[in-house]
Amino acid sequence: MCSTQLDLFSSDSQDNGKELNVKEKEAEKVTNSSENNVVLKPIKKSKDKPIAELTIEDKKIIDIELQIKEKETLNDQERNNYLNQVKEIASSCVKCVLSETRTKVVFSAGNPDSLIMLIGEGPGENEDKTGIPFVGRAGQLLDKILESAKISRENDLYIANVVKCRPPANRTPFEDEIDACSIYLKKQLELTNASIILLTGATAMKAILNSTSPISKVRGQWFEWNGKWVMPVFHPSYLLRNPSKEVGSPKWLMWQDIKKVKQKLDEIKG
Ligand code: SF4
Repeated sequence: MCSTQLDLFSSDSQDNGKELNVKEKEAEKVTNSSENNVVLKPIKKSKDKPIAELTIEDKKIIDIELQIKEKETLNDQERNNYLNQVKEIASSCVKCVLSETRTKVVFSAGNPDSLIMLIGEGPGENEDKTGIPFVGRAGQLLDKILESAKISRENDLYIANVVKCRPPANRTPFEDEIDACSIYLKKQLELTNASIILLTGATAMKAILNSTSPISKVRGQWFEWNGKWVMPVFHPSYLLRNPSKEVGSPKWLMWQDIKKVKQKLDEIKG
């Protein structure tokens, strides 16, 4: 069993689907994951901050964490109740500057009891208007990819983003914004039922795996963390910019990856 840990904090976020600068060391760390050589930083907790730095939202989340700690186990209903409370806190969040320009907070979509959680970078224009993640052209392409692998977006998937508010002009979220929003993603990871985590694009991969390796090098590989299977995949917006379906093209590679995901899903379902 791999001892990989996730890091919800990244240092220099990158644009979805763009090739990143290769840091040889980082690339080596990630591509050697199958040999259990990946050493990733632990998730930073909001309560690790000095109390004076905690926001109202941080304190509310800590209160939920304390309530959860008091219970030995959570049943599905309790888990979903806590997740809804976290969503409620995020819905009026002003922890970072993205709150000043957003229309709607985009917390999640899909089934929190599903076995797959898909994590993207942040809302775009359509998502900001509707409050639903992955509803623009990239979202429509994602739907097609899932359908082709017989994965149901409604039943088999829970969708979240690294940041819940749209960055102006769809810029890549800054480190302090990802940092501020990480308490929500952390809770989503803890309070959903997913055994499979898909990281769509470089920002999600950076936020979770703390790696700046090119997504093209690590996509399609499984990482194991706390009994969950994590796979970086291309962001659908990158596939929109690269429409070729030739063998070896990004779309073709995505198809190979989604087939692996479907296979893993079927294995887990038994
Ligand atoms: S992006 Fe996240 S931390 Fe920033 S205001 Fe929106 S919900 Fe809050």
